Amino acid sequence: MIPAGFTYVRAGSVEQALAELAWHGRDVRLLAGGHSLLPAMKLRRVEPGVLVDIGRLRELAYVRLDGEQVVVGPLTTHRTLERDPLVAEHVPLLAAAARRIGDPQVRNRGTIGGSLAHADPAADLAAAVLALDGVLVARGPSGVRDIPAAEFFTGVRTSALAADELLVEIRLRAATGLGYAFEKFSRRALDWAVVGVAAQARPEGRTAVALIGMGQTPLRAGEVEEALAAGVPAAEASALAARGCAPADNAVASAAYRSHLAEVLVGRALAAL
Ligand SMILES: Cc1cc2nc3c(=O)[nH]c(=O)nc-3n(C[C@H](O)[C@H](O)[C@H](O)COP(=O)(O)OP(=O)(O)OC[C@H]3O[C@@H](n4cnc5c(N)ncnc54)[C@H](O)[C@@H]3O)c2cc1C
Repeated sequence: MIPAGFTYVRAGSVEQALAELAWHGRDVRLLAGGHSLLPAMKLRRVEPGVLVDIGRLRELAYVRLDGEQVVVGPLTTHRTLERDPLVAEHVPLLAAAARRIGDPQVRNRGTIGGSLAHADPAADLAAAVLALDGVLVARGPSGVRDIPAAEFFTGVRTSALAADELLVEIRLRAATGLGYAFEKFSRRALDWAVVGVAAQARPEGRTAVALIGMGQTPLRAGEVEEALAAGVPAAEASALAARGCAPADNAVASAAYRSHLAEVLVGRALAAL
């Protein structure tokens, strides 16, 4: 449980962080809250030669309203998302998901940018960002680009972010006054989800449903969404929750059990909207 040696650099600005990423190539990792990266380093699953600490770039920690969108800085902690009044009013699904992450220590240090960039298939905030049609803004040497959340997660702990890019903003469609639900099943109160569901009613009348723990990435439950849009009752639509999913079959839960959980949790989420 002791990480390999590394050089520590504290970034004084976003520009410096980007320069460090460009200079060190694949041998560098950004450090935000450290609550996923440091455990991985202790297990020697990752062994970066250089750690660039962005944790003190306060300009990356904010929640703002921008027209119809809520924009969130990547260094915003899970704890802030739980409590922020703009989040509570316009994207309460995000607060509901943040509230279910780990324990207070994790929520005080962990950041939304770190959680999304880490791209764990069971990450709670990923489900909420997917259901809120989030756009992730990446900044790299050639400028800024928008990545829709639906295209961001590419595999187990891999994302569309390039090695020299920084996630600099998360943009979410406001869902003011609309129904939402976050359901999570875990073995112990503080654990990661075995399966989780984020459901969000959309202004145009459709319902977005996102799943975690049901594949190599967080994903949208497309068949459920289509059935609901076609007028299929929620109780029937939820039976389609596991369609097209390839959940892990491991010591935590069998694939069949996860599929069953997905149906039950989607049913509960839709009933709560
Ligand atoms: C005991 C424990 C329980 C947990 N339980 C849960 C849980 O129930 N649900 C859940 O969803 N999560 C859980 N987590 C994970 C937690 O949410 C982490 O905080 C989160 O996954 C990573 O955020 P971080 O700020 O700590 O990122 P870090 O650990 O600092 O970084 C994670 C990765 O993201 C990269 N990164 C960070 N910021 C950026 C950025 N702005 N741009 C590009 N790359 C970036 C880093 O280089 C690194 O590769 C748990 C963690 C612990 C230790």
